[in-house]
Amino acid sequence: MEAARNLRPLVAGNWKMNGLRDQLAEALRVRDAISGPAKAAADVMICPPATLVHPLAEAARGSKLLVGAQDCHRAAAGAHTGDISAEMLADAGAVAVILGHSERRAAHAELDRVVRSKAEGAHRAGLTAIVCIGESAGERAAGLTLGVVRRQLQGSLPDAARAANTTVAYEPVWAIGTGRTPSAADVAEVHRAIREALVARFGGEGGGMRILYGGSVNPGNARELLRIAEVNGALVGGASLKASDLLAIVAAYEH
Ligand code: PEP
Repeated sequence: MEAARNLRPLVAGNWKMNGLRDQLAEALRVRDAISGPAKAAADVMICPPATLVHPLAEAARGSKLLVGAQDCHRAAAGAHTGDISAEMLADAGAVAVILGHSERRAAHAELDRVVRSKAEGAHRAGLTAIVCIGESAGERAAGLTLGVVRRQLQGSLPDAARAANTTVAYEPVWAIGTGRTPSAADVAEVHRAIREALVARFGGEGGGMRILYGGSVNPGNARELLRIAEVNGALVGGASLKASDLLAIVAAYEH
C-alpha cells in the first residue's frame, strides 16, 4: 500500500453550472500562479462547464493547468441531442472528465452501470475518468457507508480501469456544498476501504489510482483533510470558483 501514499496529489475544481466567459479570468490566475519554474506540490485541474472547456484548454496550453469536463455520453457519436461525447471533450482539449457526481446521479438518475459505460467512453477517448462515489446522510446514519461506496465502486468502474486513466472521488453527498465535512477518522476509514477494494480488484493498478476527497473542502480545512492517509487530493466545488481559494487549497501541500 506504500505506493499509494506516494501518489502525486491532484486538486481538481468542479465549477458545476457556473461561469460565463469572464469567469475564465479566475482560471487564468490559477494558471499563472502554478506555472512558474518551481514544481507545484500537486497537479491542478479545473473542470469548467462544457462551453468553457475549449477556451480554457487553449488558454492553458503549455502551462501546468489541466482542464477537465463534468460529464460525457457513453457513445462516441450519434443521435443523442444535447449530449457531448468523450471524444468531443478530448478534441476540445480536456484531459479528464468527472463522472457519476451525486448531482447527476440524483438529477439525471445515473445508476452505477450508466456511470461505468460513461467511464468506458472516457477511457476509449483517452480521458481520465474521475468517478464520484459517496453515501447520503441517511445511509451514513444507518451505518451503510462502507457498503454503499464499495457497491458504487464495483458498479461504476470498468474492469479495464487502470491507474493512468482512473481517479476515484469520495464525496459524501451530505458534505457537498453544505460546509459540513466528515471527521478525519471517518474520511480515513472510507479511503482505506476504497483503497482495499481497488487493490483487491485491480491489483497494483488499484494501488496507483488516486482517491480524492470532495465535499466542502476550503482553505480553512484543506490541510487537515489532505494530510489524511490515502487522500490523494481533493475535488473542490464552491471554493474552486475563486482563484485565491483554489490556490490556498493547493498550498495546503506546501507546508
Ligand atoms: C462537488 O460538488 O464536487 C463538491 C465537492 O462541492 P463543494 O466543494 O462545494 O462541497
